[in-house]
Amino acid sequence: MRVAIATLGCKVNQYDSAVIRARLAARGIEHAEFDASADAYVINTCTVTDRADVESLRLARRARRLNPNARIVMTGCLAQANPARLASAAEVDAVVGLGRADDLDRAIIDGGGERVMVSNLRKVRPPIEISAVTPAGRTRAFLKLQEGCDQFCSFCIVPTSRGPSRSVEPRQVMAAIDGLAARGFKEVVLAGVHLGGYGKDLSPATSLEALLEMIAERSPIRRIRLSSLDPEELTDSIISRLAGSDAFCPHLHLPLQAGEDRTLSRMRRRYDTGFYRARVQRVLEAIPDAAIGADLIVGFPGETDDDFKRYFSFVEGLPLAYFHVFPYSVRAGTTAAKLDGRVAPAEIRQRAQALRELGEKKRCAFARRFSDVKLRVLLEERAADGRLTGLSRNYLRVAVDGTDELRNHEVEFQASHVEGATLAGEVVGWPTARAAGGL
Ligand code: SF4
Repeated sequence: MRVAIATLGCKVNQYDSAVIRARLAARGIEHAEFDASADAYVINTCTVTDRADVESLRLARRARRLNPNARIVMTGCLAQANPARLASAAEVDAVVGLGRADDLDRAIIDGGGERVMVSNLRKVRPPIEISAVTPAGRTRAFLKLQEGCDQFCSFCIVPTSRGPSRSVEPRQVMAAIDGLAARGFKEVVLAGVHLGGYGKDLSPATSLEALLEMIAERSPIRRIRLSSLDPEELTDSIISRLAGSDAFCPHLHLPLQAGEDRTLSRMRRRYDTGFYRARVQRVLEAIPDAAIGADLIVGFPGETDDDFKRYFSFVEGLPLAYFHVFPYSVRAGTTAAKLDGRVAPAEIRQRAQALRELGEKKRCAFARRFSDVKLRVLLEERAADGRLTGLSRNYLRVAVDGTDELRNHEVEFQASHVEGATLAGEVVGWPTARAAGGL
């Protein structure tokens, strides 16, 4: 049997698709590309914008054309949030919500179960499955240890689509890291939908800080990254913990979402710009070479020209290493969908473009800062131009000439020049992971 999987949306969905694929592979089921003929097609849907819904149904139609007899199974956030919409499409055979792994496997493999299998996640709270995603050719693994969210930011459908915050027990996290080390992985990214919520749901309750303490003491892998952490959850003690151990990479992703206080309040974020700036400063006092990244939404309802000017100059003044810009797009079912003051799409595009240009300048400026510093780089794969590429501990992309033996090793790297935001240079040494300090 051959199964093709299409994934829409964010990294969490990509993670979930990789878990589905690994589960099917363990049963001897082959993976097929989505543009090939397969016995079943799984579409892991996204519902972050109304456009993503349309795309999910378009993929279902495409799968049906590729093999009129195939089973077409919809899962993911849209399947969870609006199963009726998907079930009304004639080409869809089954709609399986989140947290129903066994039902999903059955629907894919033998078409068993009901046509719609969706639980109310805010009542059922299914446990989350820990499983590492290990992209081919990469030496970095992603470990999802938290799912769902209890915050209800006004633009976000995640608390509805993915349910309340649930965490993996610390001992399971440690066992998973041990397993990845045994398989030769050199770096682990701790991932979650809302990582700051980690541990509060467990009994006894624990916290991200306690988990980080355990990792600092016991992890055999000494390149641990946090995927993303909301600024109000980045406490002084977490910063000290990150700064005080060689287990952690000097890299933090702190979603800002808007650089203007009225907008932040309408977004129901739990900080203002002053607080955010102070957090960034605190991180850089403790870890001066840290890369700090952010997510930015642009064109949120009610964002005026003046608001955007303030937003832009706030971000311009922040010592960020990079940021991702997301044009605001309406999501039915969220509080923001009911807000007045929609910004015209052309205006949103212009504002997004202005911020992206600023982001590119910041990325290049951050890379230039390290053009004469030795960096510890994990070399991962060969780029299209034949050079080896990898990431420094502080999230800089580097490129070197070298043999394949260097892959999957953390080496000491010295840049010779900067190409945009990439550092090009040579390998100058092999640090021993535990002993080497610095970047
Ligand atoms: S913290 Fe806000 S933006 Fe992040 S998942 Fe929760 S509701 Fe969505």
